[in-house]
Parts: sequence; C-alpha cells; structure tokens
Amino acid sequence: MNEYDSNRILDLFKKIGYTQTENISETSCYVLNTCHIREKATDKVYDDVGRLKKKFRNKKKPILLVTGCVAQAEGEEMLKRESYIDGVFGPQSYHKIPKIMNKIEIEKRRVNSTEFDVIEKFDSLNLIKTKDSKTSSFLTIQEGCDKFCNFCVVPYTRGPEYSRSNHEIISEAKQLIDGGTKEITLLGQNVNAYNSKNFLLSDLICELNEMSGLERIRYTTSHPKDMTDDLIGAYKNCQKLMPLVHLPVQSGSSKILKLMNRKHNINDYFGTVKKLKDKNSSIKFSSDFIIGYPGETDEDFNLTLALLDKVDFINSYSFVFSPRPGTPASKLKIIDEKIAKKRLMIFQRKSDEIVKNYRQKLLDKKVEVLFENSLNKKEGEYFGRDKYANAVIVKNDQDLTGKIYDVKVTNFNQNTLFGEISL
Ligand code: SAM
Ligand code: SF4
Repeated sequence: MNEYDSNRILDLFKKIGYTQTENISETSCYVLNTCHIREKATDKVYDDVGRLKKKFRNKKKPILLVTGCVAQAEGEEMLKRESYIDGVFGPQSYHKIPKIMNKIEIEKRRVNSTEFDVIEKFDSLNLIKTKDSKTSSFLTIQEGCDKFCNFCVVPYTRGPEYSRSNHEIISEAKQLIDGGTKEITLLGQNVNAYNSKNFLLSDLICELNEMSGLERIRYTTSHPKDMTDDLIGAYKNCQKLMPLVHLPVQSGSSKILKLMNRKHNINDYFGTVKKLKDKNSSIKFSSDFIIGYPGETDEDFNLTLALLDKVDFINSYSFVFSPRPGTPASKLKIIDEKIAKKRLMIFQRKSDEIVKNYRQKLLDKKVEVLFENSLNKKEGEYFGRDKYANAVIVKNDQDLTGKIYDVKVTNFNQNTLFGEISL
C-alpha cells in the first residue's frame, strides 16, 4: 500500500510542478514514506534524516517531508525532535500536499497534518488521473481496520475501516487498463472486509472479471474471518481471479490466536482452507506468521510448525513478535529473545524447505507468466509472475513486456524461477 500511496503522492507533486528524480543530491524536496508495522520504524526515519543532512551539509537544504504510519504515530513529536523536518503528514492526509507545500514554501511554516480525512482524501484523488499504469498495478479499495488484533498498530495509524465506492474503483481500474495494465491487485489492510453500501469484494471481482483488457485479478491482505462464501465462490466463477490466496494465520495455536484477539481459531482456519480447495482445487496458499508472541510455549510453537505440514503454503512470511507502542500486546511480558529467535530460525528452515520442494516439482513443467518488465534490455532478460505470483525470469530476443506466455521451468532459487518460452 505504501507503493500505491507513493505513486499517488507523486501524481500530486506533478500537479504542482515537481518532477521525480533518481538523483538524491539534486532533489529540492524529499518525501520519506514510512511503515510502522514492526520494530525500530521510528529509529530508521531519524537514521535516514541523518544521512540526508550529511549529504546536504554544504548545499541548500531540501524540503523534507515525512509521511506514512510513523508520521501518523509520531506527529508533533517528530517536528520537535528534528528541526530538519519541514512537515509530517499521515497516510490519510496526503491529498493535502498542495496546501502543505504552500504553507512550507510561501508561508515558511512547518506543518503537522495527521487527521483522519479518508473520505476527503479519496474524493480529491479521484480528480487526479493516475499516471501509474504498469503491466501490474495496485489499486487501493479499502483502508484502515476495525479488528484490533492485540499486536497490531494498523487500527491506530490507518484509522477505522473505510471502503471506497465501487464506481470510483471501477473508474480508476479503467484508467489503469487504458494505460496498459493487465493485472490489478486490489489493496486494503483488511481487503476482504470491503463493503461499500453492500457491494462486496466478490461483487467487485466479478465486475472486474468482465472488463476486457484486464487479464488477472489479485487482492491483499485478507483476514480469515472475512473469507465469506460469496468470496470463496468467486474462485469458481471468476476465471481472472488468480488461485493464490494470501490468508494470514499468525499462529497454529488456538490459545495464542485468542490471546492475539484474532477472532478465529485454528479449526475455523482449516474450515476456510477446505471450502476454498473444494471450490477450486488449483488454489494454493501463502500466509503470515508471528513467532514468539507473549505466552507462546514450546507446545504452541510446535502447533504452528505442524500447520506447515497441513496447508499447501507456497510462501510463508514470518516475523518475531515486535511490541508496537500503544497496542495491548505491548504491555505483555515478552518471551526470551533468544528463544524467540531460535523458534523463528526453526520455522524458517522448515518453510524454506517446503518452498524448495514445491519449486523442485515445477522443474520441466509449464507455468503461465505475465511479463511485467525487462531486467536487462541488452541481455534480453524479462521478469514476470506466474499465476501463483512466483517471480519468473526468462531470456528472449523479443520484448515480452505486457504479454502472457507459457514458460518451461529450467532452474530455480529461493526467490525466482528461471525458464524458457514454451511455444
Ligand atoms: N490484515 C492482515 C491480517 O489480518 O492478518 C494483516 C495485515 S498486517 C498489516 C501484516 C502482517 O504484519 C501481519 O499479518 C503480521 O504477521 C505482521 N505484524 C503485524 N504486527 C506485528 C507485530 N507487532 N509483530 C510482528 N509482526 C507483526
Ligand atoms: Fe492488523 Fe490485520 Fe488485525 Fe487489522 S486484522 S488489526 S490489519 S492484523
């Protein structure tokens, strides 16, 4: 979502006459978009500011803005602590950039804009055409979260759940498709809670499924509790909906899930996985795991390990629990750091092995790839993704960008499949 936000921020800056530069030392305005989901997010911002100060020691200082969830969480504190920062604005306030820049450039004032103006934000953004049509594009449809998992900072930094109107979304999708987009990933912190006047995520997917020019639909990130029957049905009825379901489970222990306030237990999770598989047997899963949550015993951890054997996870994203300021879990007694790190290592070794076995089985098989860009034009190397979002690299004489081809897999590593076009 930060990538989507950064692109929209760029659209707004272009509107007031700025252009993007790859060369930091020539910048006149520097925007730092931040994430607050895990540890040391605030320290990283000050480290970055320190580096920037050094770079501009003997030059005119650029305007420095900090946005994203760290800005939202720290607000005024950030302006007090670091005089080099000219403005902080939260993820729900970035539509105000023209006003913010006016205050800084003309009125010479420092700005703190951290209100939750999500409706106003999307209303303003709708008036600006997105210039960000890539073969594969992101589209934010929902923001914020009302679930309040005890470990998570999102409800505090992104605010309450808000769903954009389906008309706005379809109009933005049309702009993207007209600009060359072949794949749209619908985004939301809790995307399957999407509900705009009873128009649900499944309705949106069905409508996108009918749009010519669009080849693939994905969405992320979803909560297991909101994986409703209508959405499960879309995996049978909408052939453009890709068969990879990212369904964060966090833990294999129902006791820990309860302590996390996840609102689902492990049997609910298995039930959802089964329903999805029954609807479409080609579906595979990926998931997020938090290791070493306060109260996690060896027994709980073993249940999480056992989960890896029970579900077809082709990708597992695992993190040691990180206490986030202001969340209920930050007040709990954390488990020994060494134990948590050791468990993470054991977990990742096992999940890496599963990924390796899965990839091994793909050797000599065909996968259908949508090519997104060239990595190296001279060498003729092209990058794309298969239906399960596996990264694929192929060498080819002709430009493959924007095209879908079957690829025979000839090699792989932990992150990428390598192959050749199979005609
Ligand atoms: N809405 C999604 C869900 O319900 O699972 C998750 C979105 S969250 C922004 C992305 C992932 O970050 C979570 O699935 C979780 O694994 C991880 N995460 C969030 N807070 C964390 C924390 N305090 N410590 C470690 N990992 C965390
Ligand atoms: Fe965070 Fe997801 Fe829980 Fe919402 S549902 S509080 S975004 S982990």
